[in-house]
Amino acid sequence: MGKTLLRKVWDAHTVRRLPTGQTQLFIGLHLVHEVTSPQAFDALRAGGWRVRFPGRTFATVDHIAPTRDTARPFADVLAEEMMAALERNCRDFGVPLWPLGDPRQGIVHVIGPELGLTQPGMTIACGDSHTSTHGAFGAVAFGIGTSQVRDVLASQCLALEPLKVRRIDVEGELAPGVYAKDVILAIIQRLGVKGGVGYAYEYGGSAIDRLSMDERMTICNMSIEGGARVGYVNPDDTTFAYLHGREFAPRGDAFARATAWWKSMGSDADAAYDHRVTLDAASLEPIVTWGLHPGQSIGVSARVPSPADVPADERPAVTDALEFMGFAPGAPIAGTRIDVAFIGSCTNSRLSDLREAARLVRGQRLAPHVTGLVVPGSRAVSAAAEREGLDEVFRAAGFEWRGAGCSMCLGMNPDKLEGRQVCASSSNRNFRGRQGSPTGRTLLMSPAMVAAAALAGEVVDVRRARARAERAGAQ
Ligand code: SF4
Repeated sequence: MGKTLLRKVWDAHTVRRLPTGQTQLFIGLHLVHEVTSPQAFDALRAGGWRVRFPGRTFATVDHIAPTRDTARPFADVLAEEMMAALERNCRDFGVPLWPLGDPRQGIVHVIGPELGLTQPGMTIACGDSHTSTHGAFGAVAFGIGTSQVRDVLASQCLALEPLKVRRIDVEGELAPGVYAKDVILAIIQRLGVKGGVGYAYEYGGSAIDRLSMDERMTICNMSIEGGARVGYVNPDDTTFAYLHGREFAPRGDAFARATAWWKSMGSDADAAYDHRVTLDAASLEPIVTWGLHPGQSIGVSARVPSPADVPADERPAVTDALEFMGFAPGAPIAGTRIDVAFIGSCTNSRLSDLREAARLVRGQRLAPHVTGLVVPGSRAVSAAAEREGLDEVFRAAGFEWRGAGCSMCLGMNPDKLEGRQVCASSSNRNFRGRQGSPTGRTLLMSPAMVAAAALAGEVVDVRRARARAERAGAQ
């Protein structure tokens, strides 16, 4: 019987089995940011420890990064304290830091891959839930808390529970206007936000095979929203082509040797899985969340649920979500008025996301009542987009073109919703208060859907907006 990638990576990184039943796993790459690291570094100081492998540890600033005025000290005293602590800690412990202003700065899950730090067969840890993003490369990547950040800094190891593996095959072709974001929202809708607890999700099938690395990252990014501890795609030629020539990827003969090893780490054809699920890609339509977690979603042509139509045990949550979001039971999601359009976050802020949104926006104007923000995931994405003139396309349409960071994905920087504003967002979480206002409302969708909603001033079907843009382009 063959092995899954998870099993191979796990075995290759096992230091020892612990009496608790956990495995002590060596971590190949540790990515650090300003929010979850200060207490961890303090613990190292208190214990008289050093960072065990500074060469495997890299830091950047993203969560608190202002995307407009980056002058120091930051207006937000707490943000300034976190930034200063990260600078001090990286200096004292010999950890490379890419601060604001550095061409390599950006959201931690965007810069790891684009610098070639993220590689197949690795174990990766970062003090952020969406570390699963790096699984797109065939890495096993764990989001961890502050005490585990301390453990990895001090020992380069984590104590982890064993995981089962669920193979999720997405077969067939996605229709135009249906994107990776819709695939992962559909998976979470079907399996539930807790369906992945205790599992690693292995994504495959013909639709996944055809996806670019950017798209695979979008899928793996939201594995955690389905409850899975990690998510991954087996490495293939798309993966190797992406990595070739990147700053931290192996070079010359070493790249060929690495590729052979990376290939060997993929799941065997006869690998056994604990559970298997198959989705039909052609049956998917653009998806929008209507509720308070990413599993509360529907196709853009559908209606929000009515409490009377759901099982009794789901009724309180559905009623609560409908009330908070201001939806009448059974109302269509299309036509929902929006106030803010946010294109960004580690889920959907890469160059291909911005290109697709710009294709729709070109030559159009934002609806007058909508505030639109485009926030590239990294300085490198920003520079590449600017070389293509995408910034001008967005600006001409009335969007604000901002500096790299997490921005409106969460309320830890100046980009926040106000009051009961409704935000069409390409981010990954629609929890109450996530975007900075306790009463703000978030509708998750693909970046192209956000762009279409920004122009219309309400939720619309991007498939129709694309068709219009194509007709206009042909004239
Ligand atoms: S963009 Fe959002 S999910 Fe991603 S690292 Fe930043 S805060 Fe976390």
